[in-house]
Amino acid sequence: MDRIASRRAEIGGGITVDRVLPSRHRRMIGAWCFLDHAGPAVFTPGTGMRVGPHPHIGLQTFTWMIEGEVLHRDSLGNVQMIRPGQVNLMTAGRGIAHTEESAQGETALHAVQLWIALPAEASECPPAFDHYADLPVWDEQGCRFTLVAGDYRGHVAPTRIHSPLQGVDLLGMRDSVVDLALKPEFEYGLLLLEGEAGIDGETLRVNELAYLGLGRGAAALTLRKGSRAIVLGGEPFGEQILLWWNFVGHGKDAIARAWRDWEAGAARFGRVQGYDGPALVAPPLPWPGY
Ligand code: MN
Repeated sequence: MDRIASRRAEIGGGITVDRVLPSRHRRMIGAWCFLDHAGPAVFTPGTGMRVGPHPHIGLQTFTWMIEGEVLHRDSLGNVQMIRPGQVNLMTAGRGIAHTEESAQGETALHAVQLWIALPAEASECPPAFDHYADLPVWDEQGCRFTLVAGDYRGHVAPTRIHSPLQGVDLLGMRDSVVDLALKPEFEYGLLLLEGEAGIDGETLRVNELAYLGLGRGAAALTLRKGSRAIVLGGEPFGEQILLWWNFVGHGKDAIARAWRDWEAGAARFGRVQGYDGPALVAPPLPWPGY
């Protein structure tokens, strides 16, 4: 097991997150290419998360809500509140813009935001947004399982993804020992979100990714009552991608084009209606000559 440390990062509204992926030592787990753990946090009403209009290309944003409510708006006209136990999945494809803000009067936030890199054949697909209010939930070995992506022991998540992936949220209903079923062809990472847990007898720390690698059929997870972890797996992503700012591209050209289009206010990204605040400004491109 490799331990991958997270780092603190600011997102809009003064919310601090623990950024786990990408990191210097681990860029991806399967197609999962970005992982922010937000909260658990409490705040006074009127503050909380507030991320103004910003673009994405080449990826899906995947929000798993644990506590609190967040309003999503996008340039396709979708306005969707996400509540605990639900997933928002936005497919950026060739381009979309969106905003995210804590609901009015909200005082809590606990969420995981992931990005999924789109494979080349889907990277220019039309943008789309899906909200999943009902995911497979079951109890097993003293633990509540919620399947957010892929399949697990005959359960199948409805989330529309483009490469072989898995995402399982685990909540200890009592002090429990869980035999996790893993797919040998997937690489895996496990992140303790709160509480106490161990894997194969090794103690985990909150916000430290336990990277389990490929080729395993099982892992023994101990989870204290009230503790929560997320398991992420996927087939190693065989394509070279670049991740810069809010863009995933299969080359610098694609990212530079998106950067110019966003700066120019091009129709490609559309407009988010109804959000009261300024759009995000992209930082300068890091490559001379682009
Ligand atoms: Mn976003």
